[in-house]
Amino acid sequence: MDTKQSITTTAGSIKPQDFKFFALGGANEVGRSCHIIQYKGKTVMLDAGIHPAYQGLASLPFYDDFDLSTIDVLLISHFHLDHAASLPYVMQRTNFRGRVFMTHPTKAIYRWLLRDFVKVTSIGGDAENKDENLYNDEDLVESFDRIETIDYHSTIDVNGIKFTAYHAGHVLGAAMFQIEIAGLRILFTGDYSRELDRHLNSAEIPPLASDILIVESTFGTATHEPRLNREMKLTQLVHSIVSRGGRVLMPVFALGRAQEIMLILDEYWNNHHEELGGGQVPIYYASSLAKKCMSVFQTYVNMMNDDIRKKFRDSQTNPFIFKNISYLRNLDNFEDFGPSVLLASPGMLQSGISRDLLERWCPEDKNMVLITGYSVEGTMAKYLMVEPDTIPSINNPEISIPRRCKIEEISFAAHVDFQENLEFIEKINASNIILVHGESNPMGRLKSAILSNFTSLKGTENEVHVYNPRNGVEVTLEFKGTHIAKAIGSIVDQIKNKEAEIQKIKDEKLKVEQKEVKYENKDEENITQISKIEEEGIVISGLLVSNEKNFNLDLVSLSDLREHHSELSTTIVKERQSVHVDCKKELIYWHLCQMFGDVEVIIDEDNVSGIKQEEPNSEDNGKLVLKLMGDILLTVFENIATLEWTQGLMTDTVADSIIAILMSVDSTPASVKMSSHTCNHGEEHKITEQDKAELLQRDEVWKIKQISELFKEQFGDSFTLLLDKENPSTSGDIKGKISFGKNESTINFSQMKIEECNSNPLKGRIESILNIGANLAASLC
Ligand SMILES: [Zn+2]
Ligand SMILES: [Zn+2]
Repeated sequence: MDTKQSITTTAGSIKPQDFKFFALGGANEVGRSCHIIQYKGKTVMLDAGIHPAYQGLASLPFYDDFDLSTIDVLLISHFHLDHAASLPYVMQRTNFRGRVFMTHPTKAIYRWLLRDFVKVTSIGGDAENKDENLYNDEDLVESFDRIETIDYHSTIDVNGIKFTAYHAGHVLGAAMFQIEIAGLRILFTGDYSRELDRHLNSAEIPPLASDILIVESTFGTATHEPRLNREMKLTQLVHSIVSRGGRVLMPVFALGRAQEIMLILDEYWNNHHEELGGGQVPIYYASSLAKKCMSVFQTYVNMMNDDIRKKFRDSQTNPFIFKNISYLRNLDNFEDFGPSVLLASPGMLQSGISRDLLERWCPEDKNMVLITGYSVEGTMAKYLMVEPDTIPSINNPEISIPRRCKIEEISFAAHVDFQENLEFIEKINASNIILVHGESNPMGRLKSAILSNFTSLKGTENEVHVYNPRNGVEVTLEFKGTHIAKAIGSIVDQIKNKEAEIQKIKDEKLKVEQKEVKYENKDEENITQISKIEEEGIVISGLLVSNEKNFNLDLVSLSDLREHHSELSTTIVKERQSVHVDCKKELIYWHLCQMFGDVEVIIDEDNVSGIKQEEPNSEDNGKLVLKLMGDILLTVFENIATLEWTQGLMTDTVADSIIAILMSVDSTPASVKMSSHTCNHGEEHKITEQDKAELLQRDEVWKIKQISELFKEQFGDSFTLLLDKENPSTSGDIKGKISFGKNESTINFSQMKIEECNSNPLKGRIESILNIGANLAASLC
């Protein structure tokens, strides 16, 4: 097998494959995050959330739109319900068979959180919807054991899909994933925050560049107030309400931001002990999960930022054991007599404790609802923003409850604002950006803002493309990618030798430059050689072997293939064909010389070629061995001509034409002439120059017939060779005609050119056949 050919063949099979993205949820919306990415036959799913504004099956991502059995890996960015709550459903109730990964804290919190979710949804949903429970406790337990964990900054490889987890800020355990498939790197931010808060590390910039960035767009082009201002506003608002005897309801998601708010409030209560009546105003954290989740928080202090770890070290007390905050499992033992602050879940007031308190407190104007999280479209928290006069009761939607309490929103949602997002996007420097996790309008505004930020790159190869697809709408990106192959085996020595050679030349060049030795002519050559190498690099030939599993490419020499890739083998196919020949060897030799020009004589016992000086064997039955076109061996001995060659595109064709010549040698006009020539002159064996010229002319028709055979093969009955049988030698050129359908062409064989042709593709085909014919019958034109 020709090595050069093998490289092109292998490289040809590494076709550019499209990267595909599409969202089953979380595109042009906040909620039910679930995205699919596909590249090189690998499929990764990102997140499996629910939509907090809907219930039951309606809250799921559009799982029916995708064959979940094809997913290799599912990565969960963080424990929030809109990112993780449909995971047990995917694992237990669908044909999903892939592996699932999340960070340790996410897994620990997820366990308690989803137990609560199962409970809340089965109580909160109305009676008819009971069957619509997405999963039960058993599903949760069974799926839990199959979830694998990943540490921050560690990389896991699942059948060629490599992924690394980085801090995302946002909530404890939240991760951004950088996924690498066949050299293509995709960064998925999940929900992320770049702000330095009280307990979390802010989102990191991965050290390796990314080709594609899938980024959240929750706040679109909005700008956050500075953190300190927000903290101050929050504590002042709460202080003013409780000092006039009011109650503050802070609906929070049980975990994550709630702990951040508690850190702020606990510190404030410590510092303003006297003003707040010396411990007369209680703060409660009301959630059925409160205690369990706090213990998880206390466990994972080591995964938080330096600030909180230092506090933990210095004081030897856990910063998540709050002096001024008490826990409530439910409202049964809650003594609601005076001013208080209540952090209660769920965060969007859809049901549960926070909803009960809202309905209880909202008619009084001295009370306040303070929303600190992100409110999803369609939820009660979002509805309150318009300050409605009444709200529907959850237990009896016919009843309207008057709303007189204050409604305030101070966001501690831990999502980037526009400026933070843009800075991050610039640092990641990916030329393809896919926006997710945002309502249509803010997302659309963000897209325009990013594009206008990068207008200077428009039309360049670094042009930034921004996509904001809807759910189920595919984004396809073509990546050619650079293929890097690892050289192994003896090819490494080849490279080293070449490098050494180059180094030697470089050293000599240096010596010349430093005038240590005299400038010689050969230095000129060396300098050109070096600049050529610097331009092209070292050129090495070998076989590229691609590993299906990890996309690694190995460059091996053919002889090393068996050692390094035992799964592959090489085969050299040798062909051998024999035909009976009745004519003189001299005739065969002459015809082959006419046809191929370059015929190498290996053995010539009867001196057929006339090369040998000594007298020929009188018996005239010696062996003739010829080598044609480099690789084809023809042996003629005792009326048997045997052809041997290595299978290949070119050699097969040539061998076919040699056999055709051997079979028809007797009947060619030249042979007839030569036979009679030999007959007339008895002992005369050699052909004179004049004879040759005459023979050549007579032989033209025969050769054209040979070439026309190629056309017969290609075009069948559509091809006719037009021979003037009456007077072939004087009646001008010999032509052929091709006609099929509307396509017609006339070929002049004597001049080896196309006379007319009404179709360009046909013309191309004819030209290439004529070329082959011309090569085979080199002496004709
Ligand atoms: Zn989140
Ligand atoms: Zn989210």
